[in-house]
Amino acid sequence: MPLARLTDISKTFPNGLEALAGFDLEVTEGELLTLIGPSGCGKSTALRLLAGLEAPTSGRLDWPGGCPQIGYVFQEPTLMPWASAAANVWLPLRLQGISRAAAGDRVANALSLVGLEGFADAKPAELSGGMKMRVSIARALVTEPRLLLMDEPFAALDEITRFRLNDELLALRARLGCTIVFITHSVFEAVYLSNRVAVISRRPGRVTAELPIHAPDGRH
Ligand code: ADP
Ligand code: ADP
Repeated sequence: MPLARLTDISKTFPNGLEALAGFDLEVTEGELLTLIGPSGCGKSTALRLLAGLEAPTSGRLDWPGGCPQIGYVFQEPTLMPWASAAANVWLPLRLQGISRAAAGDRVANALSLVGLEGFADAKPAELSGGMKMRVSIARALVTEPRLLLMDEPFAALDEITRFRLNDELLALRARLGCTIVFITHSVFEAVYLSNRVAVISRRPGRVTAELPIHAPDGRH
């Protein structure tokens, strides 16, 4: 049973721009699926549809086993610059009405998952690019999502940090077992990280090929 199924989705924005047409995709529970395709082909739009941040113009989005808790990681870390790492990670729980004190252990645990246990009080400006991205990942993980959506999370980072974060992501995933849908421009990153790559055509985007890379129970 797929976790999510997008069937014959189209998305046309109010200005008439057709971002997706005839877009079909299934997300399998437990996999790390990457979406790859030229800039502007609709990858982010597809991810935002999965996140419920956009509605399709037509077509169906189904969650056969029920809609899971979802975590979202943006390309930029999008942290509140005035708030500490811990306060940034608390935000999704705060929005659920959970107090700072009640969230304490979960925030500390999320920061430790990304290797930032010593940095709870650091402000974003004091952190490197890689560390800011780790805070952003901790913020997405703090609600214990079953599905983690990541929109080119490492694209703005230098290559060494990016390689390191690729390995950290694989280790995190082995530990947490969540399903991940990950957008990248990098064929290397797609092949290195994925169980499966979905290749999307130029706009209007649709999935033109699906390439198995690693079995979900394999090396990853
Ligand atoms: P990708 O992530 O593959 O680069 P996007 O999903 O961001 O592509 O965008 C697909 C197309 O839709 C692009 O041409 C983009 O400019 C356009 N687009 C995205 N959001 C909007 C919007 N809110 N209104 C109009 N056009 C949009
Ligand atoms: P980058 O992301 O720039 O490659 P890392 O995030 O991997 O760097 O940082 C490596 C280690 O260096 C971190 O775990 C941290 O201990 C330390 N470090 C990096 N930048 C800072 C900073 N701005 N303040 C304090 N320690 C830092």
